Parts: sequence; structure tokens; C-alpha cells
Amino acid sequence: MKPHPLFVREARGAHVWDLDGDRYVDYVMAWGPILLGHSDPRVVEAVREVATRMQVVGTSHELEYLAAEGVLAAVPHGERLLWSNTGTEAVQVALRLARAATGRRRVLKFARSYHGWHDSVYAGLDESDSGKPALPASKGQSPSALDDLLVATFNDVAMAGRLLGEAVERDIAAVLIDPILSNGGVEAPAPDFLPTLRSLCDRHGVVLIFDEVIAGFRIARGGAAEKYGVPPDLSVFGKAMAGGFTQSAVVGRADLVDQVTSGVVHAGTFNSNPIALAAVAATMTALAEPGLYEALEATSAAFERAVGGVLAEEPGGGALHRVGSLLQYVPSGGGTGLHGTGGLWELILAGMLREGFLFMPSGKVFLSAAHSASDVRATAEALSTVLGRLRA
Ligand code: PLP
Repeated sequence: MKPHPLFVREARGAHVWDLDGDRYVDYVMAWGPILLGHSDPRVVEAVREVATRMQVVGTSHELEYLAAEGVLAAVPHGERLLWSNTGTEAVQVALRLARAATGRRRVLKFARSYHGWHDSVYAGLDESDSGKPALPASKGQSPSALDDLLVATFNDVAMAGRLLGEAVERDIAAVLIDPILSNGGVEAPAPDFLPTLRSLCDRHGVVLIFDEVIAGFRIARGGAAEKYGVPPDLSVFGKAMAGGFTQSAVVGRADLVDQVTSGVVHAGTFNSNPIALAAVAATMTALAEPGLYEALEATSAAFERAVGGVLAEEPGGGALHRVGSLLQYVPSGGGTGLHGTGGLWELILAGMLREGFLFMPSGKVFLSAAHSASDVRATAEALSTVLGRLRA
């Protein structure tokens, strides 16, 4: 990261310390997994306790059950759960379940959404990709792996209706959606968008998959399904679910998930490793504590007001989008990118780093239960100083 890469030695609460011992307020938060705060003592203690008993066992164990109980209590539409390691892997499992159940091949996703780096979904990262054949977004990606991917426009009900109306002819097995475009500008779904997708999928026999790898447990305890009141057929979770450890899950309808006992292969040596599942169970218990989401919402709204207010006073300063505790800096004139926002944001990023505040090049801001009102106030003050210095 400009002006120099930060090498972290310790991360605790809402802060990280670099090798020189300098402290930063952290708004990167590992790109999403840290929702309670870094090194949350409840999570660390649960992991420590399990690590002294077992590491990975290759058969069933109690933490699979305890962690699943916690997740399913938070996500009431889920009837069954499969453990996996990363979001990328869990998305692939969900697509496999959808294709097996429908006997169809294609997947409809939305422009500006990221569903992991796998060959079959890494495309359609920009708005201009909508409605065109999906093209590889990385060197070395097999172009034929994208033959089954269709890319539509987020929040375009008419386009979704047109494509899904021909789901049988087009061989569409699944709609794969990140309901808040976490990596494409952070945008709430229009009020009729998710309900329309739900009823189109029902009508045309398509499996509706919510990719909640970022939204899950962050924008509400029950994720986007709870916040927007639309239950998908399958949900994919990762990141915040495991409080900083590597764990993902596919949650959903029993008839879909149960296909793993009748021909759908879901392999993986570390799929339900006890260490990460101890972290999931402890995180789920902590997230169920009364008042946590209300406090997180208050901090997030305060950040939007204070930091967004400073940006609004700066001519050409840009703005903030927010859904829950996920925010996105949007440059004036619009346009955000998975790989960086550039322009003024790059200067803000460098200036804020010198002031002791760590932000992401993409302009996304992850808040956590560990961020305080005084962190937010200090951030707004530092931003005023940095913008003033840039203006001078
Ligand atoms: N889906 C979404 C919405 C994501 O943001 C990400 C990662 O950032 C993924 C899937 C992939 O998850 P992972 O990086 O754990 O493979």
C-alpha cells in the first residue's frame, strides 16, 4: 500500500500495530472477517481450548454440530448446512448443488459482483460486462469455463425477467447474487428486486443463491435474507462467520443440500476442521448477545454522518455508500472498483495512514463491534486535517 506497505505485528480490537510499534485504527478488518474485533478473547480462548485437544480428525466431531447449531439459529431459512473452507469453494459447492438439482448448466450473476476467484465465476466485474458474453478477468483463466455464465444488471428487474423467462431454453440452473454488491460499490437492492428474483426463480425452476460471504452476519445477524425478508434456496457464508479463522458454509434447503448423500461430491480435507469451527461456535454465541447489532448500527451511522459530512464539505470530495457496517467511498463522478478507486482516494489513503488510520485501496470500509464513537470522531478529525493539507 502506498506510501509503503504496512507490516502488522499485532491486531487487537479495532487496532493494528506495525513492526515499529505504531498503532493504527483499522478499517480494513481483514477485508471482512473481523466483525467482533481483532483477537476477540472469546474466540481466541475457544480456539486455544480446542487446539490442545485436537487439530483435525477426519471424522465427525462435536464442534461440527455446535457450530452448525449456532449458524442455523442465526439463519432461520436454513434447513441444512455444509462446511467448507473459503467463500470461493462454498460458491462452487452451491453451484454444483443447483446444477445437480435442476439438470441445467448455466448460472446468472450480476455485473460488478465478485464471487471468488474460481475460473467459472471470475467475470462480469464491471458494469459494462452486463448482457455480454462473460470474458476472463484474469490471465491464465480458462475461457471455456465461462461458457455457462450469464451477466445481468443489478437491480434491473426487466432484464432479470427477460432472461429468467427463458430459463429452460437458456438452460439456467441458478441465480447467484451478492444482495448488496459488496465489491461493486455497496448498493442496497431496490425494494422489488430480491422479491422479484425470488418469484421468477420459483416460477421457472431456478435455484436462488445468495452469496453472503460479506453480507452474512454483518448487515444483520441473519444477513441479507433477514434484512430484506427474502429467503434464498441456498446461502453461502464465510468471512465474519468465523471471527478471523478460515471457514465457510453453504446453508439451505434440505432437498438441495442432501444431494451430497446421493451423488454430488463435496470434498475437502479441512472442510470441518475443529479449530475453525471452535471459532465459528464462539463467534455465533458472541453475535447473539443482545444489543450488539444495535450498537454496531449506531457506530456505522455515526461514521457515515461524521466522515461522510467531512467529504461532503470538500468540493469534489466524494461520498459514502453504506449498508449496515459496510461502507464504500464513492468518488465524485461515481465509479468504484474491485482493485482500487484511485484519484483523491489514493491521496486520502496515504494521508490517513500517516495520521494512524488504515483504509483499503478499494475504498471499502469495514466497521466492527470494537470500533468506538471516539475512533469515529478521531477519524473524521484526521480526514479534515488530511483534506486541508491536500488543499494547501
Ligand atoms: N463472495 C464474496 C461476496 C466475496 O466478497 C468473496 C471474497 O472477498 C468471496 C465470495 C470469496 O471468498 P474467499 O476469499 O474466502 O474465497
